[in-house]
Amino acid sequence: MKRLILSILASATFFLVHAQERLFNEMQYSQKQTVFTLNAPSSAKAVKVRIYNSASASIPSKVVSLKRVGQDRWQTTVKGNLLGKFYTFDMGRGECPGTFATAVGVNGKRAAILDLSTTNPEGWDKDSRPAISSPSDLVVYEMHHRDFSIHPSSKSQHPGKFLALTEPKNIYYLKTLGINAVQILPSYDYATVDESHPDVPQYNWGYDPLNYNVPEGSYSTDATRPEVRIREFKQMVQALHNAGIRVILDVVYNHCMAIDGSNFQLTYPDYYYRMTEQGKGSAGNIGSTGGNYSDGSGCGNETASEKPLMRQFMLESVKHWINEYHIDGFRFDLMGIHDIETMNIIRAEVNRIDSSITIYGEGWSAGTCAIEQDRLAMKAVTYKMPGIGAFADDMRDAIRGPFSDDTKPAYLAAIAGNEESIKFGLVGGIQHPQVDMSKVNYSKAAWTAQPTQHVSYVSCHDDMSLVDRIRTSFPGIQTDELIRLDKLAQTFVLTSQGIPFLWAGEEVLRDKKGVHNSYNSPDSINQIDWNNLIKYPDVFLYYRGLIEMRIAHKAFRMADAELVRKNVRFLDAPSCVIAFTLNGKAVGDSWNDIVCIMNSNKTPQQVTIPEGTYTVVCRDGMVAVGGLDKCQGGTITVGPQQALIMHK
Ligand code: CA
Repeated sequence: MKRLILSILASATFFLVHAQERLFNEMQYSQKQTVFTLNAPSSAKAVKVRIYNSASASIPSKVVSLKRVGQDRWQTTVKGNLLGKFYTFDMGRGECPGTFATAVGVNGKRAAILDLSTTNPEGWDKDSRPAISSPSDLVVYEMHHRDFSIHPSSKSQHPGKFLALTEPKNIYYLKTLGINAVQILPSYDYATVDESHPDVPQYNWGYDPLNYNVPEGSYSTDATRPEVRIREFKQMVQALHNAGIRVILDVVYNHCMAIDGSNFQLTYPDYYYRMTEQGKGSAGNIGSTGGNYSDGSGCGNETASEKPLMRQFMLESVKHWINEYHIDGFRFDLMGIHDIETMNIIRAEVNRIDSSITIYGEGWSAGTCAIEQDRLAMKAVTYKMPGIGAFADDMRDAIRGPFSDDTKPAYLAAIAGNEESIKFGLVGGIQHPQVDMSKVNYSKAAWTAQPTQHVSYVSCHDDMSLVDRIRTSFPGIQTDELIRLDKLAQTFVLTSQGIPFLWAGEEVLRDKKGVHNSYNSPDSINQIDWNNLIKYPDVFLYYRGLIEMRIAHKAFRMADAELVRKNVRFLDAPSCVIAFTLNGKAVGDSWNDIVCIMNSNKTPQQVTIPEGTYTVVCRDGMVAVGGLDKCQGGTITVGPQQALIMHK
């Protein structure tokens, strides 16, 4: 009997979960009819759907009222074949394409009725996710579509478009560098670029979400035809997958472009956003932004992931990108605005599809959030979110200096006291017997449970490029020294047990002319000048060599906290020298013992390492995985401002 009750309960739960999955299915098309459903307050006077013959038609061909079909839920069925038509919802506050449009017209003003299955490129049913055994197997390359392919030196046929990432020459470049995942900056439909003027150069990072579940139109070859952006996005994913490269999407559920006029606000006013205490007190003051809304994002608003509909929205959106576009991972912008429970629910649901889909995010917010602070998915509590990673500012800032002061150098300038923070990053943010947390810059306790929760990086889009940062913090630095420090900095990233993360173009010494927040700077600031590849081939080869070494040798990505605690050992070393050994044999690596020594001093330094004959693979700013030279253990010398890596 007990078993029977349990089984009934289980199936009831199953049903509820699956019933919930369809909460945001706003438009269900078939040739005979289309069902429109909207989550809008039960108290709404009327909810209407307007059908248009085109994205720009001035008057609707049909206006249909939705009926209440449950708590805060409205629905109607329109007979006939509506394929190719457009629609908007209106619950009395103005038209919008709904919260969950899966296809839109130009600039995302109206949703489009199309059959998504007709947007699949040839062979899409055979598309599959390149295999990995852990997130630290990835080498992530963060890129913006325009940055990557807009400069004339890129010679792309589709500059600034999704399709640039289908071009064999560009794919060949990524394969040659050796990365196996791209993280693309926001590629959903965002607000600030006017899609109706594709020939006018416009730039934005895209952290101003409009329609979360549709690709951005300005990255397509024709934003006026709703199916084009969808098909081209899929072609991009397919081409990258065929090359063994995963695609990680930057998702920005934490805020919208603006509250007023947002799809959330126009369908269910004041539901999706967190309000301040003052705002909560004046409920009913709908639509007023007079200080009533909390702003944890620094963008004027913050969403409320803890509320059932917002949580479900995020969950269904993530699943839409996985199921419809075969996305392999998500980078959550300002993840620290979301609540821990929501992130864990998303992880669990994604695991049901494929546990190798990567999830990580920014474990911070950009202001105070209107929710209990201990509920937030902040970096410090990453260990409470198994399978979810966070960006590690500890190691980043210890290497190159703080985010808050571009002129302030750190380890790279041979400033002592940063070593422990870097060691903490090398082990992937776990508790390690040789890392003294009292000496770590920002974290007084280990914040990951597994090293695969630690995103290791020294630069990303949201900051100066590494080159600019070094130039700013080393006034008058010459190029040869800059290159030495640049290589040294990335050596930590690529030998860290976390997930290594590179900003596109660093491998060719890209700069942004010193601009820090280049979110809407012109192409002249943001574009990667590929002529640098010819100017600085040794930088590219160094990055490429380290990536090749990491991917070929599991000792650099043990992926398990216990293995890291046992098999990563730090050696005694002088100030600003970090020396460690990796027990390759213990983790099944063909290199039995690996020694890595990093020295940011301007003078050679000596370190005592275990005896034996070693093969040197990295020295004097060069990497050769097959070996550069042999050397004997004991007391050895590491040159100034460089890394020495060897194995036996
Ligand atoms: Ca757009």
